[in-house]
Amino acid sequence: MKPKITKTKKQKAEKKKKPVLFQNPKGMRDILPDEQMWWNKIRRVVDEVAEIYNFSRIDTPILEDARVFEAGVGASSDIVEKQMFVFKTKGGDRLALRPEGTAPIMRSYFQNSLGRFGQPLKLFYFGPMFRYEQPQAGRARQFHQAGFEIIGDDDAVYDAQIILAVFRLLEKSRIKDLSVRINSIGCRVCRPVYRRKIQDYYKNREERLCRDCRRRLGDNPLRLLDCKNDDCAALKEGAPILLDILCGACRGHFKRVLEFLSEVNVPYILDNYLVRGLDYYNRTVFEIFSDYGEEGKPFFTFALAGGGRYDYLSELIGGRPISAVGAAVGWERVVELMKKNVKPAAGRERSQKVFFVHIGDLAKQKGFGIMETLRQAGIVVSESLGKDLLKAQMRLADKEGAAIALIFGQKEVFEDSIIVRDMRSGAQESVPLKDLVEILKKRLKTSV
Ligand code: AMP
Repeated sequence: MKPKITKTKKQKAEKKKKPVLFQNPKGMRDILPDEQMWWNKIRRVVDEVAEIYNFSRIDTPILEDARVFEAGVGASSDIVEKQMFVFKTKGGDRLALRPEGTAPIMRSYFQNSLGRFGQPLKLFYFGPMFRYEQPQAGRARQFHQAGFEIIGDDDAVYDAQIILAVFRLLEKSRIKDLSVRINSIGCRVCRPVYRRKIQDYYKNREERLCRDCRRRLGDNPLRLLDCKNDDCAALKEGAPILLDILCGACRGHFKRVLEFLSEVNVPYILDNYLVRGLDYYNRTVFEIFSDYGEEGKPFFTFALAGGGRYDYLSELIGGRPISAVGAAVGWERVVELMKKNVKPAAGRERSQKVFFVHIGDLAKQKGFGIMETLRQAGIVVSESLGKDLLKAQMRLADKEGAAIALIFGQKEVFEDSIIVRDMRSGAQESVPLKDLVEILKKRLKTSV
């Protein structure tokens, strides 16, 4: 009889000390293969909307000189103050992982004299952004935004066009119950008047404000309206309203934006306390939400998209005055809602797929060449060459939703033929190898 081996405490501890597998950084996740179909859909929708509304793509680096954001977004904004990933390179440059896409585009506008491409210049982008936040559902440290910018014109029609493009983009992504909340935060003429009114209002309520708001009261009092702290949010209810104080020009501009939105039937709600936390905004600001949910409770209380006019950004980063307006859509939030709304259809690529089944070594070798011929002809071929059992390969062909299985064995090798099996009906026929590409192309076209 074998002696029973009992593990000592030391052995047990050593077992526990097994090297830990590495994890992704907090708040930054992998987008796995089974999610890619949602992301592909989003990219297609972004491209489609960009094309319809005539926006050209721009890609800026993921890293920027940190000063682009400090000057543009504002040193006292949450993004710069708390959320930016900043580091020094070996060469001593201070770089930031971009927390947003607009300031880099304005940097590029000047650096590359993009004004030569026309006024206004309509640009769009799609890519990862980084903010050091406390991760939670709908809030990550690495997330993706698609953004649209119209640079070089202050006409209210462009504010409306940006809102319209983003609204359509969300609609095309099948997001239900969209609501656009909109406000005007005025200009250099009327905003200082409002700032003073806000400061007066909060002055004798200061002790009820959170620590951050007390600090902001002096240098950035509009931000108090943006605070999510319960006490601050309650105090906001009685605060003065900016729309009452807007100068004539801003009032007229805002009225036109709303008229243009009505013209294209984009519904909106006036939100008197919407200010957005970035320094570069003026006049129109907006956010888009989805009220879609269960039992009257929306799945998401966060905005899906946000934006506004930013006529002062160009000067903030050292350039000449250029009017502009833009918006960004956060894709993680959109994907979450899409998953709730849309049943993943067996997409076109999937039902158009051909699965290659081999029987025996020689068929595997010759089959390797046949598959290459098919792929060169643009046919999507899937296979499991590591498996030899016919049954296992057929099961996979079925699981992958292939439209057609090609069965290639010893007999077919010698006869220069191959069996073409329709995976839906189960009907199959032997065809000459030389006709295979043509036959498959015909069959796949009719099986869409
Ligand atoms: P913002 O300019 O900060 O309003 O961002 C525009 C959009 O990006 C938001 O409406 C969100 O959809 C998305 N977004 C912003 N921050 C995050 C984040 N930390 N995680 C996920 N999505 C975000």
